[in-house]
Order: sequence, then C-alpha cells, then structure tokens
Amino acid sequence: MKIVDLKCAIIGKSPVVRIVTDEGISGFSQAETWKHYLKPHILALREALIGEDPTLVERVMLKIRQRGGFKPWGAAVSAVEMALWDLAGKAAGLPVHKLLGGKVRDKVRVYNGSIRFPLMGHRPEDYADDMRKMMVLPEGFTIFKQPIGFHSPMKREVPNFYYGEPNASPFHGALDRGPVTEKGLRHLVDCVAAMKEVAGGDVGLALDCGPGWMLGDAIRLARMLEPFNLLWIEDVLSGDYTPWVNAGVYRELTRASVTPIHTGEQIYLRQNFKELIETHAVHVIGPDPADVGGIAELKWVAEFADLHSITIAPHGTANGLLGLAALIQVCATLPGNFIAFEYTTADPPWWSEIVEGLPSPIVQNGMIAVPDRPGMGVELIPERAKEYLSEDDQAFFS
Ligand SMILES: [Mg+2]
Repeated sequence: MKIVDLKCAIIGKSPVVRIVTDEGISGFSQAETWKHYLKPHILALREALIGEDPTLVERVMLKIRQRGGFKPWGAAVSAVEMALWDLAGKAAGLPVHKLLGGKVRDKVRVYNGSIRFPLMGHRPEDYADDMRKMMVLPEGFTIFKQPIGFHSPMKREVPNFYYGEPNASPFHGALDRGPVTEKGLRHLVDCVAAMKEVAGGDVGLALDCGPGWMLGDAIRLARMLEPFNLLWIEDVLSGDYTPWVNAGVYRELTRASVTPIHTGEQIYLRQNFKELIETHAVHVIGPDPADVGGIAELKWVAEFADLHSITIAPHGTANGLLGLAALIQVCATLPGNFIAFEYTTADPPWWSEIVEGLPSPIVQNGMIAVPDRPGMGVELIPERAKEYLSEDDQAFFS
C-alpha cells in the first residue's frame, strides 16, 4: 500500500487531515479547533509522505518528526501520525488499540475541562454555583477541572490580584505573569474552598492555574491548597503555550508540597519529557496526542512516566470528535498510572452529525466505552461532511 495524497480541509474550525492511498482506503484525523492556521503546515508534509507505506507508521514518522516543535507547531506532525494509525488499523481490519498492544480497559475515564457555563463572577459563590451546575451534567463526570488565577479572567476581575498590569490581549496566557498579592492568593483559595464544599469528597477537582506564577508564590499556593486534596494543579509555572519545560523549577515546587503538580500539554516529543520524569519534577503529566507527536508518542511517555510512579491525565479539550476517537484508543492501552483524559466535544455541535462510531450517549457515568471498529473507530460521513466544506476544500473527499 502506498500513500498517493495528503489533503487538509477546515471543517468548522478544525483542520482535518486525510491521507489517501492507492488501495482505496484513507486515514483521517483532526487538530485542535482553534488551529485553522495549521493547514499550510500540514500540507507542507505532503511531499515527504507520497510513495510511503502508511502501515509502517514509525518509518514514515522518522521522515517528518523533526518538522515539529512545542505547541502549536507539533500539531501538524501529530495529526499526520494519528491519520497514519487510522489507516494502519483499517488496513489490518483492527481497532488501533490492538496495534498499540491492545486495550487494558473496556471503558476510559474522562474529566470535564470543556463543558462550561459562563461564570457569573469571580467570587467564591460564583465558583460554587458553577460546580453545582457541572455536578449535574448528564455525562456524570467524576473529575472536573476549573480554570483559575492566571488561567482565567480572575487576574483582571479581582482587583490587585497580582503586582502587574493584566493584559487584554487574547494571548494573555504568555503575557500575564508576576508576583501574586496576599489578597489574590487568599481569594483564590477561598474560591477553591467554596467549590470543594459543593464537590465533596466523591468527585475529583483539578485546577488549571497558569502559567504565570513565581516559584515562591506557587509554593505558598500549593501548600495552602493541601487541605482540599485536589487531584492536581496544572501549569502553575509554565506550560499551556510556553515553548519550554522548566523541569528544575517544577522540581522545587513539587518537593515543597503534597498537592500534585501537573504540566506538559505544550510539550512535543518524548525527549522533552525525559528530565521532567527522570527527576520527578512533577506528580502528573498531561501530554496531548494532537501536540506531543501523536498517540504512539503519548503511549511511550505514559509508560516511561509509569516507571517513575508519575501519573498521566492527557490534555484534549479542543481536539474534536476525531481527536476524541484517538484519545479513547490510546488511553485504553495506557498502564495503571492513567487517571483520565480531558473530554472534548463536537464543536460546532453539527460535528456530531457528520461522524459515526461513537457510543450514544458518548459519556456514561464519566466513562466512554472503547469502540472496536477498525481504525480509530470514528468515521467521517462524507455525504454529510461535504456540505460544510468551503470553496477551497471541495475536493477533500474526492
Ligand atoms: Mg491546561
């Protein structure tokens, strides 16, 4: 079997990859919803793929892996990797999890980091209210993640949250950082206390906190949060879109408190997790298959982390339904250090009408049943998807 074409269409807001072969089967994948600008980056890999056997996934990846970087620049390579696995599974007539060693669980736990309600404010009662709404979602989630501090408008909305000038730019994640005031710190902890009062001890609560904190404040935060037994606090120092790892500083934070420290959604390739894992710089890692270099890359990182008793909660909030399929397949095969992956929804909602293969409802009691169809298990329906193709992308399915 040989690759004869690589195509990319923007469906809704998501770049969708199609790898076409000479045997009439194709592999599909999807990159994050907000990365429409990836299309030329994906198509730049076309030449390297033509003529290759897509079922020799690693051999193909050796040609293109060096052409990625930290988020968002690992996404094109990652999307191609996932489309190759989809193809390899279809060619073998097997679900992708079997090509990765087989599922070790029939259902995969997801956490809610994507289904949100507009916060009425940034007071403790607003966070408690939000928690109440999330607790009764029909998905029955058992783990929730709340953006807070620098990872939320709190840094702007709470006067004097920190000793810095909040930035109004949409790229605030990289710009807003600085020492936090005592008032800011206490306010954040009060909001967490209010959420925990609603959540109780039966569901897990995690926080997405930054980046933006200075080490000293981060240590104080982690220690003040200890009574709440959070599942993790994420990207406090760096992470999200910061193109570096910061293992040494993370290690200082991790050693200073029992609150689990989490990072890694922006990291590209296993090599960039090496120091983080080997030095026990964090308790939890959160690679995203659509940014780390694909599902096999994520599995390798998870296995290596497991050797070091580091847990894994993969990122995936905007990966869409094809991205969801990839997360299910790989997470079904991860070792016992797996906590849950971040649930991702149809965005826009009509995406749920242009694919087939997902269970209905998708999430039950906070878990998703692993599909056993060949490939990733979720398939675009060309007749339905076609009506959402732009003028430029009309030839995507032909
Ligand atoms: Mg995050």
